[in-house]
Amino acid sequence: MDILVLPGDGIGPEIVGATVTALDALERRYALGLALHHDAIGLGCLEKDGATLTDAVLDRARASDGTILGPVDTFVYPPLEDGGRNPSSEFRIALDLFANIRPSYARPGVPCMAPGIDLVMVRENTEGFYADRSMYKGIGEFQPDEDMALSLRKITTRASARIAKVAFELAATRRHKVTAIHKANALKLTDGLFLRTVRKVGEDYPGVELEEVIVDAMAALLIRDASRFDVILATNMFGDILSDEAAELSGSLGLAASLNAGDERAVAQCVHGAAPDIAGQDVANPVAMMQSTAMLLDWLGSRDKKDGIREAAAAFRAAVDTVAGDPARATRDLGGKAGTRAFGLAVADEIASAGS
Ligand code: ATP
Repeated sequence: MDILVLPGDGIGPEIVGATVTALDALERRYALGLALHHDAIGLGCLEKDGATLTDAVLDRARASDGTILGPVDTFVYPPLEDGGRNPSSEFRIALDLFANIRPSYARPGVPCMAPGIDLVMVRENTEGFYADRSMYKGIGEFQPDEDMALSLRKITTRASARIAKVAFELAATRRHKVTAIHKANALKLTDGLFLRTVRKVGEDYPGVELEEVIVDAMAALLIRDASRFDVILATNMFGDILSDEAAELSGSLGLAASLNAGDERAVAQCVHGAAPDIAGQDVANPVAMMQSTAMLLDWLGSRDKKDGIREAAAAFRAAVDTVAGDPARATRDLGGKAGTRAFGLAVADEIASAGS
């Protein structure tokens, strides 16, 4: 299996480095046939390649089974015409990664504001309120005059149906409940279309309960009792905002893993950003990057019907959670004292010794 590794900006090289340490241990233990190929994106490429992302890297990603995409600091990228390409959104469009899957759950030993939380956000990734994603040409945000700016939000039956299918399929393997998030009281046409499509897809899953919740109520309900939610299905921006809330409720943004998946390819990517404020200090928490990578392996195991890969992914996830829940080996944000590198080595040890 060919995996492309792109460390990215800020803390990216540190958390991706720790993830590679753990993957090497996983390969030694389970002989998965993983081949890691390293390349670069981000600020480091700007001078050398004239852009923060090159078409050659996108081609390598298309030719790989999966990609580990480190966080990118797009906030400080120059304008597009000066080479500031956004790897995050370009990957989603170029590889048609329509499903962004973001689990949040409580872990033994990890301080958590919502002890019963165990949910997965299934977020549409290719349209909605994201200005660079919803147009064939140009961008969906523009400014006719100095005192007026406009954004377009695109919702289609096709994208709503395929993301709904991902949510119902996932719920059928979990606690059989999908909560669809909307604002159809105000956005009657767009979210009306989204909800109608979700209900129609839901008819194929009679064993899965469908609940509909307005987005602002959902922000409050998550804080009141996150444990009542199983799979949360949301359009792009609502899902982005609510998944940060869910991640924080589960302990820390540093725990927040995510997978961007299409029909044929998937990309592991943290929910959090490049955290430039702590870059280069060996204090970043690599859990999100590691768990995103475990999700990628699990997805590849399902795609290729290889149970051995899924078992290795589960062992990886369990090893990460064990180390994260141990104050002697956890990182600073989780109340521990370990550095990023030490965390990676501890996970590698845990993988090597699991079951022995
Ligand atoms: P973006 O918009 O690119 O997602 P952001 O503005 O949300 O980025 P982050 O880079 O995610 O910001 O950082 C937000 C805060 O969380 C920062 O204080 C950062 O140090 C902290 N943080 C983010 N990721 C981690 C991590 N892996 N380990 C520890 N702290 C983190």
